[in-house]
Amino acid sequence: MRFVVDSNVEKLGRWLRIAGFDAAYAGNMDDNRLVRLALDQGRILLTRDRGILKRRVAVGGRLRVVFIDRDGTGAQLRQVFSALQLSAAMRPFSRCAECNTSLLPKLKDEVGGLVPPYVYRTHEQYMQCPDCGRVYWRGTHWERMVKELEAAAEPA
Ligand SMILES: [Zn+2]
Repeated sequence: MRFVVDSNVEKLGRWLRIAGFDAAYAGNMDDNRLVRLALDQGRILLTRDRGILKRRVAVGGRLRVVFIDRDGTGAQLRQVFSALQLSAAMRPFSRCAECNTSLLPKLKDEVGGLVPPYVYRTHEQYMQCPDCGRVYWRGTHWERMVKELEAAAEPA
């Protein structure tokens, strides 16, 4: 299941990427290009823009859209998880939160100098984005985010 995320739910997209889902960010793309991208790449469009729901492609069902009606990223994440039954497919930290690229596992030796010394001393396993070079590790920040995701994945 792949997504494209409208600029009005940008943070939601970031959290979906942290959960491991392919969630492309549309930036300031206009609605026509956004819809085109979703159709061309078979992505589900996440938006708070009611105008898109009224388009023929959406009404006819060719474009899959989830209209986000909740406020706050946590509630929005819960809405998407529940609407699309995503919980079982969640793979936290397999995808770069910034650029949506799949992360690659790295050995400790390969990330020396790229992470703070304390992190380097205390962690053995790392993931790196081959695109932007960002390095991820299972620190306290990671654990906190996984807890948030698990909370969102629980049925209400
Ligand atoms: Zn990246």
